[in-house]
Amino acid sequence: MRANVLLEPGAIEMQRVPVPDPEPGGVVVKVLTALTCGTDLKAFLRGHPKFPTPTLFGHEFAGVIAKVGAGVTRFREGDAVMSTHSAPCGACYYCRRGQENLCDTIMPTMVLGAYAEYIRIPERIVRQNMYPKPEALPYREAALMEPLACVVHGLEQVPAREDDAVVILGNGAIALLHVAALRTRGVATIIVAGRRAYRQRVARAVGASHTLDFEAETLPARIRDLTDGRGADLVIECTGQPHIWELSVQLARRGGTVIFFGGCKRGTTITLDTERIHYDEIALRSPFHMTPRAVRQARQMLLERRVDWGQLITADYPLERLGDALDQLQRGDCIKFAILP
Ligand SMILES: [Zn+2]
Ligand SMILES: [Zn+2]
Repeated sequence: MRANVLLEPGAIEMQRVPVPDPEPGGVVVKVLTALTCGTDLKAFLRGHPKFPTPTLFGHEFAGVIAKVGAGVTRFREGDAVMSTHSAPCGACYYCRRGQENLCDTIMPTMVLGAYAEYIRIPERIVRQNMYPKPEALPYREAALMEPLACVVHGLEQVPAREDDAVVILGNGAIALLHVAALRTRGVATIIVAGRRAYRQRVARAVGASHTLDFEAETLPARIRDLTDGRGADLVIECTGQPHIWELSVQLARRGGTVIFFGGCKRGTTITLDTERIHYDEIALRSPFHMTPRAVRQARQMLLERRVDWGQLITADYPLERLGDALDQLQRGDCIKFAILP
């Protein structure tokens, strides 16, 4: 089969590798759509601690079952499926506490390699995080289940109210998935602060009520103007930059909540005003990854199609042109690309 291999940061090579065989309880999926993701772009541009090279990569996908391993009863060859690329063990300390996103082995056992014709999915993922894909849901939208599950997991900890004013910092794919998810929950005031005109247009199309040019100096005053001087009920940081983490705390109202969603570079730190955090009772959350419960909920949201999720996918690229898609992604007049084998 053809598979894109990340040889080292900046270098992708299309290689011929054997089609994998499933493990007992596992399956092999013929990939029909894979989606680009900011994590893949980071790995491509400067390497990623979780992706030692050379490596197969790509982790957001949907397709059809090509082979089933011994003992698989829920799926058969030819079934259309949607899946994540990781699943918890169910037995470690964190899993037993219902914090499966922090499972000791969820990261080391994750599967990469969706930028290829086939991907091998192990038993623990098939059992917990793989689902049939209904015919009415396009493959490209089904492939959004994994990033949307991460967003759902973060929002689970903060039940947003319909009358909340929410500020979202950044307008990449994860930011816009937040917009769409909040919109489906009936939140009316969703303010997106970001830079590129194309992305701001899509932000409005998926449910943002206001889009502001990202200007760190003036943002706190502009958010106060839009919230009767209070600040936002909920601020969601989706840029992964320490100074924006700090800025996001300034934007929250007394008693408000900040979600630090964007992971920052290793070794970075932030400084916070303790008076603000304590006397204004600002709740700080930093959700990571997802649980099987969040995956189920994300799938349900995609099936309901209360927003046009397809707008988050800007264009298609063939498997051979993954490098061009990632170059384009870096330039920013886009959200995600569908990579088609
Ligand atoms: Zn991703
Ligand atoms: Zn575990």
